[in-house]
Amino acid sequence: MSIQENYNAIKSRLPQHVELVAVSKTHPVSAIQEVYDLGQKVFGENKVQELTEKYPLLPKDIKWHLIGHLQTNKVKYIAEFIDTIQSVDSEKLIREIDKEAGKYNRKIKILLQIKIAEEDTKFGLETEEAKNLYQKYLSGEFPNITITGLMGMATFTEDENQIKKEFLNLKRLFDELNQLQTLETLSMGMSDDFPIAIECGANSVRVGSAIFGRRDYSK
Ligand SMILES: *Cc1c(COP(=O)(O)O)cnc(C)c1O
Repeated sequence: MSIQENYNAIKSRLPQHVELVAVSKTHPVSAIQEVYDLGQKVFGENKVQELTEKYPLLPKDIKWHLIGHLQTNKVKYIAEFIDTIQSVDSEKLIREIDKEAGKYNRKIKILLQIKIAEEDTKFGLETEEAKNLYQKYLSGEFPNITITGLMGMATFTEDENQIKKEFLNLKRLFDELNQLQTLETLSMGMSDDFPIAIECGANSVRVGSAIFGRRDYSK
């Protein structure tokens, strides 16, 4: 299927309240432009260098989301333009984002990335750390960021029950924090598991290969 057919197929499967983040990592600027021309405005990249190379070549009204692990020393390269950093997994990183956002006199939206997968390869905050950070945020510690929600990645497995269990754990934490102050975004689900994620309460999904095709990391 063409990118256009893929994109339309995915859009038709998403309920109205679910935001689509089109994950364009490894794919060329021409493919991103093609999806943009179909009406998509929110794109996700996972590497700072790749994002900063693509950013100047594409329309300025794209909302860029960083979805991959971010080192504190690289925040400065994206602070001026990034819309949302979905992969925030430490207090140190929050402090750095807050500082850099302040330099540009802007607020950067962030999601707290929560470790929900069983595999220990995935980055993310433990539940208790996340609650702590949210409390600090609510008490005004990080004036130049807005915590808009939570993000999580399920274990890479065929076992749908496992995936569901992990997504529901994240939904529970989301509901809990949401009672303290309203959160907008629960980002979970990728090409293979977004229908389960939506069933479990996701209102934002990060879909790459189901739109752009398989990634070729050899290039
Ligand atoms: C690559 C990536 C995605 C998209 O994965 P697909 O399986 O291609 O849809 C989603 N989230 C994160 C954090 C990613 O790194």
